[in-house]
Amino acid sequence: MDTTVFEQHESTIRGYSRAYPTVFASASGARQVDEEGRSYLDFFAGAGVLNFGHNDPVMKRAVIDYLEADGVVHSLDTYTTAKRAFIQRFHEVVLAPRGMDHRMQFMGPTGSNAVEAALKLARAATGRREVVAFSHGFHGMTLGSLAATGNEAFRRWSGVPLENVVRLPFETAPGGRTALADYRSALLDPSSGQTPTAAFLVETIQAEGGVNVASASWLHELQDLAREVGALFIIDDIQAGVGRTGHYFSFDGMDLDPDIVTLAKGLGGFGTPIAMNLNKPEIDDHWSPGAHTGTFRGQGISFVAGAAALDHFTDETFLAGVLAKGEIMRERLEQLAAAHRERGWTVRGRGMMQALDTGDGAFAARVQRTAFESGLLIGPCGSGGRVLKLIPPLTISEADLAEGLDLLDGALAAALEVD
Ligand code: PMP
Repeated sequence: MDTTVFEQHESTIRGYSRAYPTVFASASGARQVDEEGRSYLDFFAGAGVLNFGHNDPVMKRAVIDYLEADGVVHSLDTYTTAKRAFIQRFHEVVLAPRGMDHRMQFMGPTGSNAVEAALKLARAATGRREVVAFSHGFHGMTLGSLAATGNEAFRRWSGVPLENVVRLPFETAPGGRTALADYRSALLDPSSGQTPTAAFLVETIQAEGGVNVASASWLHELQDLAREVGALFIIDDIQAGVGRTGHYFSFDGMDLDPDIVTLAKGLGGFGTPIAMNLNKPEIDDHWSPGAHTGTFRGQGISFVAGAAALDHFTDETFLAGVLAKGEIMRERLEQLAAAHRERGWTVRGRGMMQALDTGDGAFAARVQRTAFESGLLIGPCGSGGRVLKLIPPLTISEADLAEGLDLLDGALAAALEVD
């Protein structure tokens, strides 16, 4: 495997390539193949981008047809047929059935950019600066989104103070159950020294932060608090949304009503970039035209593939399949945890985002390495990388899923032998 070009010429910043030290040449469904012909089951799926797998044939055909017809690939924010079709389809499949009248805002096509835009809009709409974000939250790497991200390993690179964010413990973190009530008391106390809050920014499942799952009741408490104090309720659904939980949004079925929802990653269906916020109209009205600009807002290929991806969400068997495969993952992880009870592993997750918290980052890194060597790609997350997160494509076959879980089982056993 010749990796010299990367080592000689690419930045030290390379990260995932160190965990997966090979050169991938092709990819299809839930598998990637390296240039020596070794096949890897992909349980990382582009950090939650490839919900519909690599090179989904239906989306690929739609993209090829679009390119062959000289469809507009780059469009800033001008109107195109592809964008119209995407907006219409998104409205029809996602917003209308939920009675949501949110507007769709496109920005530069990364999750960080979506979060930046949401924070700016919340501050503009409320005239306030401080945003509440939670311990273990991950919202991006640009300064505004980084300020909302909890992990010190990322925060320390900012080079400037990360300001205007108040940190509260997430529901599952120490103190998390009472933190909202305490913060509420402080906000309502004119002598607490607290400044009014522009927004509460939360992931319903903290994906990078260790697959910490919030309960519907805690999220309601949060939404109620936001409403009570005149702040916005923002759900970052960048990793947990677009079907990952067996529903389009991770908060579906909870009767929540977020003011802004941030989306990116899987939204474009095929793996090409796109980001989009859903803003309530009365909040969206606080923007002036062009206020949050971005050269790459008009991603023709992502509109075309993303519209095709939405067809999955009119198919009940697809969503039922996600829930069923999520159960299979869950059960297998529970079995693994039970088989090694002395290690104190815990299992967390919803739908097809399931995780094994090994409590030990060095051990999890060893499992990742062993898994890679046996042909399985997984990505640790959480504090010190101690949580093994499984996020295979939602479209993975049950046979591939079972094979990947067997490989994980083997990698855990091998890593335990070294311990
Ligand atoms: N929010 C969440 C919940 C994420 O998981 C991520 C990416 N892991 C981001 C924001 C940032 O997205 P991006 O890396 O595309 O900027």
